[in-house]
Amino acid sequence: MKGDWMKDSRLVNLKTRNPIMDVARNLDFTLRGYDGNTKAARCFNNHEDKNPSLVFMPEVNRFECKSCGVKGDVIELIQKVKKLDFKGAVSWLDPTYFDQSQSIDPIEYLRKQRGINKATQEKFKLRCEPKRIVIPLPTGEKYRWLSGNTRYSQKKGTSGCLYKTADAGDFVIMAEGELDALKLWQETGYPTWTGTAGVGAFKKEWLSDLKGIKKIYLAFDADEAGDKAATELARKIGGDKCYRLKPSKGKDWTDFFVKHGKIKDDFNELLKKAELIEQVQHNEVKVSWPEPLNERAFYGIAGEFVRAIEPHSEADPVALLVNFLAAFGSVIGDKPNFNVEADKHPRRLFVVLVGKTS
Ligand SMILES: [Zn+2]
Repeated sequence: MKGDWMKDSRLVNLKTRNPIMDVARNLDFTLRGYDGNTKAARCFNNHEDKNPSLVFMPEVNRFECKSCGVKGDVIELIQKVKKLDFKGAVSWLDPTYFDQSQSIDPIEYLRKQRGINKATQEKFKLRCEPKRIVIPLPTGEKYRWLSGNTRYSQKKGTSGCLYKTADAGDFVIMAEGELDALKLWQETGYPTWTGTAGVGAFKKEWLSDLKGIKKIYLAFDADEAGDKAATELARKIGGDKCYRLKPSKGKDWTDFFVKHGKIKDDFNELLKKAELIEQVQHNEVKVSWPEPLNERAFYGIAGEFVRAIEPHSEADPVALLVNFLAAFGSVIGDKPNFNVEADKHPRRLFVVLVGKTS
């Protein structure tokens, strides 16, 4: 892309603010384990893709399909999946990107982008000032800026607190930000709270407010930061009453209700299906594929053997290696051995291979 330096650095900044994994989730890809921490999904190009080939590489913020070879960065991913041109894809990521010089109209931002209606605005006394929305907090004021690079700041002397849309009943929903909490409350009427100091900064002294509440739904964003914050908060509160609640469409509840047009019934479905955080962690352990063996495991002739036949076999290299070592130990018998104290140990191996297969 051609452009002046400022434009390029803003584009780099935009990409950095949008990790490929988050973008992939927002594009509704179903991510699966691929290789270690690498995740993959089914390719968007129409080809046979039984094992997901579209690999996401967070460390370089790019994707590549190992099957058809299509590759690129986050913008190119959006272009291809959403069938947009460059400008369209950038705007999809950041609606303010091309008109940052003039700030967005605060009222328009509240109504159109956040879907917050006049009644909600008035009830919570949100003020629209030039270039910003003022959110009154019990401890001061928070600002959502609509121009420049700062998104949020606080009035001097404002301390972090729990922002509550309503008193908790049997349950309370914890959202990631004030406007998200307000939108959720507006659509459902459920008590939705948020910590005003950011999703990762839940203060111990707020725990007493959560005492006696039977269910706490951690409705943070559907991204890695949200998952991490949920796990950490559940540890503080106790995983036996914390449920993870994620939007089924979009990254946050504003996406869910505004971009995807979901309604309270859709939200109730998610509430019903929300899993205990303990359960969530357990399931993650259950579905994760073991880390690939370290290269050092493929030492010597055994490793050479595996690498030689690997291209001609569908088997996992771990299975090839383990079978080779077991067969070798069996063929050479118990003459070659080593001692552990008084016991002779031959090269016999007893192995079980377990894996998903057909
Ligand atoms: Zn492909």
